[in-house]
Amino acid sequence: MPPTGEDLQNHPQLQAPKRDKPLFSPGTGEGQALVIFVLGGPGAGKGTQCASLVRDYGFAHLSAGDLLREEQDRPGSEFGDMIKSYIKEGQIVPMEVTIQLLENAMGRIIEEKGEHKFLIDGFPRKMDQALGFEEKVVKSRFTLFFETSEEVMRERLLKRGETSGRADDNEESIKKRFRTFVETSMPVVETFEKEGRVERVDATKSAEEVYGLVKKVMEKEGIEPVKKQ
Ligand code: UDP
Ligand code: MG
Repeated sequence: MPPTGEDLQNHPQLQAPKRDKPLFSPGTGEGQALVIFVLGGPGAGKGTQCASLVRDYGFAHLSAGDLLREEQDRPGSEFGDMIKSYIKEGQIVPMEVTIQLLENAMGRIIEEKGEHKFLIDGFPRKMDQALGFEEKVVKSRFTLFFETSEEVMRERLLKRGETSGRADDNEESIKKRFRTFVETSMPVVETFEKEGRVERVDATKSAEEVYGLVKKVMEKEGIEPVKKQ
């Protein structure tokens, strides 16, 4: 049995100092971070759209899944086996691990590159992560939600599976990931939506066309590109 969230709460490596307010305040100045959550079903195109936003808007891109896979492969990681089994089953890794990985990566990027704008891709996928992150790290500015049909997503994932080498881009894992998305991740989107903090984008068309819609959302939100397009 892999450890549960409860076991991890007492884990020495995950004992971040108790804070009575989030680590950062929202913004792009000293001690601040501007975070946009990027959500959407598996294969909705989050990573592809994030790459364009990094190029044009100067965001740093943090994919929660990539950070987890990196930690899984890090020699000596005691979370490696646990992460592997959760990912293969399409389940959500206990939030303590993922939030700590995100917080560490953000701190490093601010320190090393002086970048304060972050796209957090594929996170939060479960309500406890959303609450935990906004309480402990920073409140997000809004959530960019990519919407399309399961059929489109499935096709993209199987295509990606031909070359991705990802342990979860196969029929069996894809089914489980869709299920987790509908049952566990959609409630996060719905909660943020009730707070008026979601921008929905139709992700059905080509990457270029979808990016056209994304740019409109950025304009609406008052986020400017950093270089002429
Ligand atoms: N995952 C997780 N917590 C997160 C983000 C991802 O446990 O906050 C795990 C989960 O098992 C998920 C897998 O990592 O199915 C792959 O996530 P990724 O974002 O890479 O998939 P994508 O949405 O890009 O297809
Ligand atoms: Mg991705």
